[in-house]
Amino acid sequence: MARENPFAPRPELKIWIDGELVPARQACISVFDHGLLYGDGCFEGIRVYNGRIFKENEHVRRLLESCKALRLDPGRSTAEIKQAMAEAMKANNLTGDGYIRLVVTRGVGSLGLSIHHTACPSMIVIAAAIQLYPPGLYETGLTCITSSFTRNHPNSISPRIKSLNYLNNILAQVEARDAGADEAVMLNAEGRVAECSGDNIFAVRDGVIYTPPTSEGSLEGVTRGHVMELARANGYTVIEKNLVRHDLYVADECFLTGTAAEVIAMVKLDHRPIGDGKPGPITKRLKELFAASVR
Ligand code: PMP
Repeated sequence: MARENPFAPRPELKIWIDGELVPARQACISVFDHGLLYGDGCFEGIRVYNGRIFKENEHVRRLLESCKALRLDPGRSTAEIKQAMAEAMKANNLTGDGYIRLVVTRGVGSLGLSIHHTACPSMIVIAAAIQLYPPGLYETGLTCITSSFTRNHPNSISPRIKSLNYLNNILAQVEARDAGADEAVMLNAEGRVAECSGDNIFAVRDGVIYTPPTSEGSLEGVTRGHVMELARANGYTVIEKNLVRHDLYVADECFLTGTAAEVIAMVKLDHRPIGDGKPGPITKRLKELFAASVR
């Protein structure tokens, strides 16, 4: 008998799975799905604001690029994927703010690794409520540590693939929580700054905004791209530049971006206050610009 799970989805939630809408409890994939057996698959985390999908094209494109990199043909076009998300939103009356989790798994196969012994990838759309950082953290900013876990080497599984294997990031997050911090900064194999366990990273110095290029080992964040555009459109200089921890330690401000996080200040790293240890003016301005842009 399974234990009561306080994190179980609401039973009335409807899940879109391979073209059908089913109650959350009946939304199941096989124990032979390679997504479960090997983490073979990919996903997207997408925001809905006011009943509209934010940066839908960008997310579907990234999903299809992840699929392509994994040599996984999801068997659905961009239009069909958009239609699936629309159906999941409608089934759940998602007319306000929410979150969509879009998942592609390799599908059922034999117990070997081979993708040639699998058939029929599965696609899942979960349209649900969003869990943000607690509101207070947007006022105070995040405390971070540098993780001892290295971000995936680009010649290993590319960090630009949003794959179903997030163990590296999960262990980095556990490490942060164990240290009493909110997030973990992950370095690449060369020891330079890549990103955080679930967010991209920016540093501000002398009014200029810096972020590592994605070749440094980060996900090509949709929020990252949007914030860079917003900043440039509002007169800021944004430079993609390799960063080391020193750059973060001596920055005037640092902030993180992500679908769930939006824009949030990082005010402490490895017990050192960044700037004056409070969210800085450029971070606050970008947070406002971001909020205005999604409404
Ligand atoms: N890096 C990682 C590792 C992520 O998982 C995410 C998404 N949570 C991000 C960065 C931010 O990307 P996006 O803005 O597209 O959500």
